[in-house]
Amino acid sequence: MKTSFFNLLLLATSLFFSLSSLAQSSDAAPRFVLAIHGGAGTILKANMSDSLERAYREVLENALRCGYQVLEEGKEAIDAVEATIRVLEDSPLFNAARGAVFSHEGKNELDASIMRGRDRNAGAVAGVSTLKNPISGARAVMEQSEHVFLVGEGADAFAAQKGLELVDPSYFHTETRWQDLQKAQKRSAQAKHAEIPLDEKFGTVGCVALDDQGNVAAGTSTGGMINKRFDRVGDSPVIGAGTYADNYAAAISCTGWGEYFIRHAAAIRVCAKIQYGGMSLTQAAQQVIDEIGEMGGTGGLIAINTKGEVAMPFNTSGMYRGTVTREGTIAVAIYGEED
Ligand code: ASP
Repeated sequence: MKTSFFNLLLLATSLFFSLSSLAQSSDAAPRFVLAIHGGAGTILKANMSDSLERAYREVLENALRCGYQVLEEGKEAIDAVEATIRVLEDSPLFNAARGAVFSHEGKNELDASIMRGRDRNAGAVAGVSTLKNPISGARAVMEQSEHVFLVGEGADAFAAQKGLELVDPSYFHTETRWQDLQKAQKRSAQAKHAEIPLDEKFGTVGCVALDDQGNVAAGTSTGGMINKRFDRVGDSPVIGAGTYADNYAAAISCTGWGEYFIRHAAAIRVCAKIQYGGMSLTQAAQQVIDEIGEMGGTGGLIAINTKGEVAMPFNTSGMYRGTVTREGTIAVAIYGEED
């Protein structure tokens, strides 16, 4: 009797210590509240001037700061996602809104989507050309229509009717992107099968966030693929492919060769691996990127869950990316070797 009581005491003590050390280790890990990407692709330090790198880092930091402030004010994750993406959309550096790439016909056709994890409500627009901030158009579709996905002139007309800010299409014209189009067209004339460059810097933007109420949200905005034709739409505005958010699993925003992300239903596949496969966020996110790589696709994604864990895998040489923790610590990275 005496021995068994002693054994029980020993067991209880060791259980107490192992539990408290577990709690310590999870306390020690940073809890992230927001993560962003600014596109994945061939991004090499050798090809980047110091001033351009500084400019990228500055916009990424500004976007993170903006999103953090929205969360600090006690607003919802989806508010932070929209506000953060608007900062990135307004910068000519990223392939979204202001800095969008040109289509084959020399137009800027913009795609965006947004999703809320607590009720899986979502909205998206594709092929818009006058909406200054397509991410806000996506949100308006979600909140002010009975639909999820609007395209082309109809989507622009809807945005106008809802009083969103419209601009002349020339607002999206940047000289850098125009020159990129000239180069892309020259290349595709030379190589029959190279209409879509294999591993170029893509530059889409995305954000995932976790709010104080424990809800996650995700959003993505892009100009799509340079030199695109026939009203091509990629994964970015496709719910389940480029964007997905579900409190029970994670919030995800993807970037990369959109055709592969659509075929693999990339964003929702990360959630499925977590929810039905019992994987951790990191394992699930990495596995989806590996699978896309096996199919021949390139790109990356960012993911956050309600525990404040973040994963940011990519199979390209770089991905513009950044995080902010619950305490407000901001970190940005560009190249593959950075953390
Ligand atoms: N995924 C986007 C698309 O295919 C491009 C990108 O992420 O850069 O339209």
